[in-house]
Amino acid sequence: MSAEPVPVEAAIGLGGNVGDKRANLDRAIERLAAVPGVRVVARSGYYRTEPWGITEQDWFLNACVVVETTLSASDLLAACLAVETSLGRRRAERWGPRIIDLDILTFGDRTIDKPGLEVPHPRLMERAFVLAPLAELRPDLRVAGVRVADALATVGAGGVERLDWAVPAT
Ligand code: ATP
Ligand code: CA
Ligand code: CA
Repeated sequence: MSAEPVPVEAAIGLGGNVGDKRANLDRAIERLAAVPGVRVVARSGYYRTEPWGITEQDWFLNACVVVETTLSASDLLAACLAVETSLGRRRAERWGPRIIDLDILTFGDRTIDKPGLEVPHPRLMERAFVLAPLAELRPDLRVAGVRVADALATVGAGGVERLDWAVPAT
């Protein structure tokens, strides 16, 4: 008899700015939750955010989920990319318009630095649009020794607005 793997708590940031943003975000979370070995344990509200990197594009809808997973980080990334593809995302320019983007923000307290997978997400601590929904769920989580809520206070929440939309149950 082999032991069941101990689940790891991971945070996943989602965002999109093409098509029906809310439906795409909801579907992405539903599809992620349907992946064997992934359980969504918390879900943030919806955030309307200004584009980052390439600013001449439509506003984004962002959110964050916390999952418990028995998958490896690589398999969780593969699942995230499969959800993106299933919703019709085709990779074009980085930081450009997209139907949906799923990034692994944290994976337990692990640090991973591989060509296709860096965890914690390398730009997490400089992005209010990622920190605000994450801080809603896990304000005391520490990334490289810094509390998420403190990182958000440092960056400031300019360009990020939490919308008054009902959040589906997880
Ligand atoms: P950014 O990474 O700055 O948020 P992006 O999300 O627009 O930019 P993508 O085109 O979605 O970038 O992803 C490019 C590649 O980043 C993915 O194919 C994936 O292999 C890699 N990657 C590395 N670390 C991560 C991570 N923590 N979460 C998701 N993808 C990652
Ligand atoms: Ca991203
Ligand atoms: Ca991405």
